[in-house]
Amino acid sequence: MKEKKISSYPVRSNWASQLGDKCERSLVFHRTHWREKQKHNTTLQFIFDEGHIQERAVKSDLMECGFEVFESERALDMDKYQIGGRIDGKIIGPDKIKYPVEIKSCSPYVFDKLGSFNQFQYWEAIEFASKTFPHLLRYPAQMQLYLLDSEENTGIVIFKNKTNGLLKIFYVDLDYEYTEIILKKAERINKCVHLFKGLSEEEQKKKENIDKIFPAQISDRDHCKGCGYNHICLPDIDWGSPLKMEDDPEFESKIDNWFKRKMENADFKKLDEDIREKCKSRENVVLGKYHITGKEDARGAWRKKIEVIK
Ligand code: SF4
Repeated sequence: MKEKKISSYPVRSNWASQLGDKCERSLVFHRTHWREKQKHNTTLQFIFDEGHIQERAVKSDLMECGFEVFESERALDMDKYQIGGRIDGKIIGPDKIKYPVEIKSCSPYVFDKLGSFNQFQYWEAIEFASKTFPHLLRYPAQMQLYLLDSEENTGIVIFKNKTNGLLKIFYVDLDYEYTEIILKKAERINKCVHLFKGLSEEEQKKKENIDKIFPAQISDRDHCKGCGYNHICLPDIDWGSPLKMEDDPEFESKIDNWFKRKMENADFKKLDEDIREKCKSRENVVLGKYHITGKEDARGAWRKKIEVIK
């Protein structure tokens, strides 16, 4: 069922939800090479679907609290910059002001990182948490574009902890300086796309033409590892097994326990066996705050490594 949902769709615009990404080159690939993007796995599809369920749940909570949610899924109107996207909705606050709303469900680890900031410290919270979870850097650009498009001065970003349902709410003010940076980025991408599409099919296949037209590669190979276009952009690098994201609270809590008992030197044989069994064939997986890697050794035994992501 989930496999059917993992397919490629034509990309005709810059997505507001991606424009904050640190690699501009990947954003050009997203427009020109969407057919060749490496597909994500079913686990990630489960996580995406869960995100949509949580988004609906938060909207219904807001309505239960008396807030009217309107313009749900309204499309952005930013053709001039070839920017597309859909806003989660708007609500009218107790002060009678209309606020664009963006809802993000997240793991308890992301939630905790954001937790020490107050409702007006969105940028500080994102900057701090993105050191551990770089994908968060995409979020501010998205809300800024929604604000610009809606001609509203302030928006609301709601994070939901997927494990316990707690909410963290941030107010975000329109920042013209930052939106200018994002719009200029969109224009540069559009120019690259235009130049690339002007090439013949044969010319488009040549890596030197891509390198000539596209923005430069970034040097952060950890980021590149999770990029769906790394096989085209950096074809000489062996990325090993692609990184998978998993959401399995039961397994994760077993690892918590395993670490704790290991530290205490207690007898944890049964648990250790369990963990070893569960880690088998997990070559490169992020599970909450853990990075699990492993491979078969010369004798055919599975060698696992579990590290806490700092
Ligand atoms: S592989 Fe790295 S440099 Fe190339 S597009 Fe992806 S993130 Fe950017």
